[in-house]
Formats: sequence, C-alpha cells, structure tokens
Amino acid sequence: MKALQYRSIGAAPEVVTVPDPEPGPGQVLVKVTAAGVCHSDIAVMSWPAEALPFELPLTLGHEGAGTVAALGEGASGVSVGESVAVYGPWGCGICVKCAEGKENYCLRAAELGIRPPGLGAPGAIAEYLLVDSARHLVPLGDLDPVRTVPLTDAGLTPYHAIKESLPKLVPGSTAVVIGTGGLGHVAIQLLRAMTAAHVVALDVSEEKLALARQVGAHETVLSDERAPDAVRALTGGIGAEAVFDFVGAPPTVKTAGAMVAVEGDVTIVGIGGGALPVGFGVLPYDAAVRAPYWGSRSELIEVLDLARAGAVDVHVETYSMDEAPLAYKRLHEGKITGRAVILP
Ligand code: NAD
Ligand code: ZN
Ligand code: ZN
Repeated sequence: MKALQYRSIGAAPEVVTVPDPEPGPGQVLVKVTAAGVCHSDIAVMSWPAEALPFELPLTLGHEGAGTVAALGEGASGVSVGESVAVYGPWGCGICVKCAEGKENYCLRAAELGIRPPGLGAPGAIAEYLLVDSARHLVPLGDLDPVRTVPLTDAGLTPYHAIKESLPKLVPGSTAVVIGTGGLGHVAIQLLRAMTAAHVVALDVSEEKLALARQVGAHETVLSDERAPDAVRALTGGIGAEAVFDFVGAPPTVKTAGAMVAVEGDVTIVGIGGGALPVGFGVLPYDAAVRAPYWGSRSELIEVLDLARAGAVDVHVETYSMDEAPLAYKRLHEGKITGRAVILP
C-alpha cells in the first residue's frame, strides 16, 4: 500500500510503498478514507535525532477515519464496513487515567512503549491503518468522514481545553483564541456552541482572521505587541476570563499572560516552546496556566455529537495521497485555511 512517511531527520515526508498490514490478535484493520494534517507533525519533523522518542521511518497522520476492513482474532465491538473515527492518544486501558477514559493521560503508555498512530505507531496517512483495539474507534454513522476527521484532534484538543474553563466562561465573559488555524478555527465554533462568552480571535494573517469571523468570532485582532491593549479595551479593562493559545510560542504566551483577567485561565495548547511564569504579582490575581494534551475518549464522542447537531463545520482543503507532501509544505508556509485532509 501507499503511505506518507517521515524517513530521515529533517527531510520532507515522502510517499512510499510499504507492505499491507495484517491485523493481529485484538487489532482492527481500517481502510482509511480521510486523514488530517496537524501542525504537531511539522514540530516533530523539526526535532533533532536525540529528541525524537521513536524510530524512523514513521508513517505520518494522527487524525484518521475510515471503514473497518478486517478484525484480528478476538477483536469485537465493530463490524466490517462500519464507518469509524480513530481515537488517537492510545493508553494502556488499565491504569486509573485510562479507566476514566483519559487515555491521553495514561500513566503507563511511555513505559509500555504505547504511542499514538502517526506519532510513533504507523499513522493514518496510508491506505490502511492498524488500530490496537476496537475501543479506539468511534462509529461515525452518517457523518462525512472528510469533514469530520479533523475533529479527532483539531476538535478534540480544543474541546478538552475549553471544557476545563467552562465555569469561568459565563455570559458576559470573554474568551480569546490565539492562532485561528486547524485547531483555532474549530475552537471558535466550540466556544460559540458551548458558551455565551464573547469570542475574540487573534492571528498574524488577515486571511485567517477572515475565517475566524466567518466561523463565529465576535471580534478579530492582529496578533502583535499591541494585542493585549486591544483586548483590554474590548473588555472594559478587565481582560479575558480564558485565553487559549494555539501557537504556544514565546511571544504568544506573553500576549496571553498580558490579556488574562483576574481569576482567568491561560491554556497553552500550541507546542511552540513558549513558557509563562506563574508567581505572586506576575500575572493578575489567581490566574491559572495550563498545558493540556489532546482529550479523552468520552470527549471525542461528545465532539462528534456536537458535529451531528450541526454546531461545528470544519473548513477542509483536500489532497490526494500523491499531493500529501504538498499539504505539509503548505501547512509549514502557513497557507492552509482550516485543515488539510488527505484522501488516501
Ligand atoms: P495551524 O498551522 O493550522 O494553525 C496555526 C495558526 O497560528 C495559523 O493560523 C497561524 O497563522 C497562526 N499563528 C502563527 N503565529 C502566530 C502568532 N504569533 N500569533 C497568532 N497567530 C499565529 O496549526 P494547528 O494544526 O492548528 O496546531 C496549532 C498548535 O497546536 C501547534 O503548535 C500544534 O503542534 C499544537 N497542537 C497541540 C496539541 C495538544 O494536545 N497540546 C494537539 C494538537 C496540536
Ligand atoms: Zn495533532
Ligand atoms: Zn493507562
């Protein structure tokens, strides 16, 4: 089968032919219909060899959807031909976090060498994907896999981040979204669907800000050193009760800290290497800083239910398998509007 692989440190990913996978005991083979392209892959491909926690080559793609093609011995719970989305942050299934459905926070995954597809295990940008357990599959029903596949990460990650701040996002509050790309443009829609907060979006690109307004941001602000003053002006000097940073670079976390309200939350989702110090008098009183990772299995089910209710409309650009390297190049250049989705 064809697969998109990251094969050597620093090189661009390439389309190669690899053996068709066969499902082992308990595994499910999925024929991939759609796979999303996440900026985290760009980060992973910029890491030096010593920082890479897995071996190359790696088949990319940690957002996957498809149809069940075959079940390994003893696997059950899904049937051949069923349309499914893949829950990516696999855990051991046994520890206390996994028992809560929070396999993203599995306490034993690292020790057991369990890694998400596309981030250590062979990923979804391939004709077939091996899924370790049927519990990592969520039935899609009538949902369009192409427009739904980004919800497995670009939807689930902001959903999990926003859910933790819901008690603060009361009517009259303000939520800021920094970076309105793949995750950010879904975050805006989730905030509109889940809260009555005023939503302010920041980006460096006017095109991305236009998308932000299209998907429901009340206000848009260019992301530069003047942005904190602009957000304070929009909030009568109070600042934002929740700031979600989908860039996470040193300048954006600084911006986030400068616009958060007393008792507000700064949630750093982007993995741009930024850090925000917390200490008495550093941020407004009782502001909290969090850096969550992905989301739980039950939250993925909730996000898909929101999509079913028509509350989220992911903007996708589709690419064939042979065009997959181009999708990564365009993402790296900041040229994707919404999410790039590969159709293997
Ligand atoms: P993306 O490239 O689709 O979107 C990033 C957006 O940020 C773009 O619109 C870009 O114009 C904008 N941007 C860049 N610099 C900016 C700045 N200084 N101020 C404001 N906006 C700026 O990326 P994505 O796939 O949505 O991923 C976003 C980030 O989230 C990445 O760092 C990714 O690695 C990370 N991520 C984290 C998790 C997690 O679990 N924590 C999960 C998925 C992705
Ligand atoms: Zn991702
Ligand atoms: Zn576990």
